[in-house]
Amino acid sequence: MNEQLSQDLADVGRLLYEKRLTIASGGNMSVRAGNSMLITPSGVCKGMLSGRDMIEIDISSGEIIGKGKPSIETPFHLGIYRSRPDVNAVIHCHPVSCTVLAIQKKDLRTNLTPESLMILGKDVPMIPYDTPGSDGLAEKLIATMGPSKACLMQNHGALVVGKDLMDAFFRMETLEYIATLQLKCGEVPGLPEDEIERVLAMSK
Ligand SMILES: [Zn+2]
Repeated sequence: MNEQLSQDLADVGRLLYEKRLTIASGGNMSVRAGNSMLITPSGVCKGMLSGRDMIEIDISSGEIIGKGKPSIETPFHLGIYRSRPDVNAVIHCHPVSCTVLAIQKKDLRTNLTPESLMILGKDVPMIPYDTPGSDGLAEKLIATMGPSKACLMQNHGALVVGKDLMDAFFRMETLEYIATLQLKCGEVPGLPEDEIERVLAMSK
């Protein structure tokens, strides 16, 4: 197993837990390592992981290399790596403000600040609900997310992807920050359409 990437995964788990983006044993993260993905184990606090706890899974076959019990959400992590060659890291957790929006079935508004547009892109889709760990959830997530950088998961939480783990971590932190702003601001107008296009062009 790639020791550096395993350690990076443990470090990001600690950051997520310390920033209260995940609580108890919730959430799961993974990183691409060649033809494999390394993923966090099932049912463990993400603030207390070490690199040795990670589980390696072959991306094309889905077979576990070595031993351990991987996250229940392994199906959607594998699905993302199979369908998105641009993605090298996936973070899923249940931050409070994102989950409030996901329960209220309110879309995240990326037009409130330029930072949001630059880091999250214009569209943050809402993934229809399905049972955690099910193939149905994985199918809905991959079909609805498309090429987006982040999404909310109805009655569940949030998910982001990135070119590496820190890229994904910054996206999750920004996603929760924007969700919090949106809840605090109430009904307010967003940036005008021509400014949105200007900011999106800048971030390309
Ligand atoms: Zn979850």
